[in-house]
Amino acid sequence: GRRINAAVNDLTRPGSSLDEKAFEVMVKEICNALMEADVNIKLVSNLRKSIKKTVNFEDMASGTNKKRLIQKAVFDELVKLVDPHAEPFKPKKGRPNVIMFVGLQGAGKTTTCTKLARWYNARGFRSCLVCADTFRAGAFDQLKQNATKAKIPYYGSLTQTDPVQVAREGVEKFKKERFDIIIVDTSGRHRQEQDLFDEMVQIQNAVEPDETIMVLDASIGQSAESQARAFKDAAHFGAIIITKTDGAASGGGAISAVAATHTPIVFIGTGEHMLDLERFAPQPFISKLLGMGDMAGLVEHVQSLKLDHQGTMQHLAEGVWTIRDLRDQLSNIMKMGPLSKVASMIPGLSNMMGGMEDEEGTAKLKRMIFICDAMTEKELDSDGKLFIDQPTRMTRVARGSGTSVREVEDTLTQHRMMAKMAKRMKGDLANMQRNQGAM
Ligand code: GDP
Ligand code: MG
Repeated sequence: GRRINAAVNDLTRPGSSLDEKAFEVMVKEICNALMEADVNIKLVSNLRKSIKKTVNFEDMASGTNKKRLIQKAVFDELVKLVDPHAEPFKPKKGRPNVIMFVGLQGAGKTTTCTKLARWYNARGFRSCLVCADTFRAGAFDQLKQNATKAKIPYYGSLTQTDPVQVAREGVEKFKKERFDIIIVDTSGRHRQEQDLFDEMVQIQNAVEPDETIMVLDASIGQSAESQARAFKDAAHFGAIIITKTDGAASGGGAISAVAATHTPIVFIGTGEHMLDLERFAPQPFISKLLGMGDMAGLVEHVQSLKLDHQGTMQHLAEGVWTIRDLRDQLSNIMKMGPLSKVASMIPGLSNMMGGMEDEEGTAKLKRMIFICDAMTEKELDSDGKLFIDQPTRMTRVARGSGTSVREVEDTLTQHRMMAKMAKRMKGDLANMQRNQGAM
């Protein structure tokens, strides 16, 4: 990520002139960096052609901000890559929606199916889990523990060894009990790969899922593409979830998997905690891949508005992000409007507000500010961990702010995500400020 950004920055250093030759060098550098980030070589080569086509030097008026144009061209092309031009499945309330998870052992299926059940539960869907992994000893125990913690009903068997049978029984039982979302977790390993694929197809036939989701580990790099292809050849899946995006991997392999299978990414896993699941949004995902972060644009905007951000800028430079920082920035955002544009610059926030009208988004932001204002000074200046240690604090804040525990939880999730990002961009930001000072 840093390397791609460096390539663009280098070229646009004050004093360096941007000619066609320099541009060639830069495109080459960007492509190398993308391949290093595990993006498939053929995709990179296509990307290179598109960028060259988009950025036309002869047509550029003098004085055009070329750096911005090039950044935007790279960015847009990558966003296009993760856009599969296919609509993901949307469950409907009032009827059973069966979702089956597939993927290799260790990809994060069992963890993610509980996260997803919780996610739907929080949105008014009655959700439950079926453990059809009878291959790995302890698989059912793991699911049981997660589900119990999240208060999600589950089904499984310690004695039945036929996963198809368990899947069928579980789904039938929960359909009778009129659950909205029934998630079937499966095994990810067999003695033979073909056995795994056969089992997958048999379970699909038995439970007839409305959606099959493939779970992919962000860190598997280049092999993501062949893995996704092999699964897609064996059985249809209509969506992908990328896990462990909080790790060091840049997710280029995931992009290649999407491009190869034309399947939408629907969610990303951002940590081991139950709440670490986010709706996939192409822009922030690509920002992270490129290491530029839309945050850069936001910081510029905030600076131009001369809003109160002294404390926050200081914190960001140190990689710190307290709940108070979140509160201050929310109130700044309210001043900045139009909301949808500003929100689109903040990864995660754009996610949360996706599709919302400005009015609805403003109302949501206001409620988040009320939530912050119902906190004690100690809570505001914290990293939020004390809420996890003492969940009753959430109840108190919900009551004090006239909101719900779920909204408090969402605000804290939002904060945690930004805090992670602040930690990551500590160095980037220091550089950026230096660069801006020089311009
Ligand atoms: P399965 O074999 O596909 O069911 O994978 P599991 O759900 O058992 O997950 C394997 C490991 O990955 C566990 O240690 C999880 O805690 C971890 N894991 C899953 N998703 C994430 C994620 O988004 N971030 C991080 N950091 N770890 C994850
Ligand atoms: Mg598992």
